[in-house]
Amino acid sequence: MQSGRFAPSPSADLHIGNLRTAALAWLFARSTGRRFLIRVEDLDDRTSPDIAAGQVADLAAIGVTWDEPPERQTAHEGRYHEVVDDLTARGLTFECFCSRKDILSAPRAPHAPEGAYPGTCRDLTDAERSERRASADRPPALRLRSDVTAFTVTDLLHGEYTGLVDDFVLRRFDGVPAYNLAVVVDDAAQHVDQVVRGDDLLSSSPRQAYLATLLGHLPPTYAHVPLAVNAEGKRLAKRDGAVTLAELGVEHALTLIASSLGYSATTLDGMLGEFEPGCLPRQPWVYRPS
Ligand code: GLU
Repeated sequence: MQSGRFAPSPSADLHIGNLRTAALAWLFARSTGRRFLIRVEDLDDRTSPDIAAGQVADLAAIGVTWDEPPERQTAHEGRYHEVVDDLTARGLTFECFCSRKDILSAPRAPHAPEGAYPGTCRDLTDAERSERRASADRPPALRLRSDVTAFTVTDLLHGEYTGLVDDFVLRRFDGVPAYNLAVVVDDAAQHVDQVVRGDDLLSSSPRQAYLATLLGHLPPTYAHVPLAVNAEGKRLAKRDGAVTLAELGVEHALTLIASSLGYSATTLDGMLGEFEPGCLPRQPWVYRPS
């Protein structure tokens, strides 16, 4: 039952950097005898079913295989609300009325970790909360009442990584389950015990692993792989030129992925024979569209 997964948000076509991360997630899973799953992370309304279908087709075209039909998060939204309600019943959530601006301008304790929620709404009295509810122009978000400020995860590429855990959002003010909640709930529901993804998410992993333990799950093993960047060192994007599978073609895309990883094989099955996690490049992959 142990599984790896790739979990794209269908907000734009996958680019060559995303395809490379998907290939790596598949290689990590298959080289360790795991099942592999695709999860469509479509809770946010800036996503589209057409883009999701295109992403899944592109993954199949480069040779990614999976063991169950791709699961869409919107197909079971109740799953997230149940978990949030349960945390609320355990006294582990609080309503937050802060806007982003409120959070950025709030005074913070001298030793508060950089980027942490400043705790503005954590200890409101009942009277203060009622007053905020009455005067707020939108419903509150629900945040986790965290009792730690940091948590350590194990990452196959980064070793023991300790990072910030603050009172992060579980349910957005518009009622949509937050990414950090949904990803933990789904990974546990799908028996995902190996999470391979871009290293832009490394700093989110302590929050997610901590939440997993609160929910009674063992945190997964992580591998946060370097991202693809453009010639300026910025995260690769559509405006960088030919970056999607439609623009590159399957053969060329696979050749690019293989050469970026130092492999001679140009199919995923072939790369599996050459895959050695310890030898993976640790630097971002600089991609220069031709
Ligand atoms: N859906 C997230 C993204 O596309 C990835 C989530 C994850 O791998 O944990 O950035």
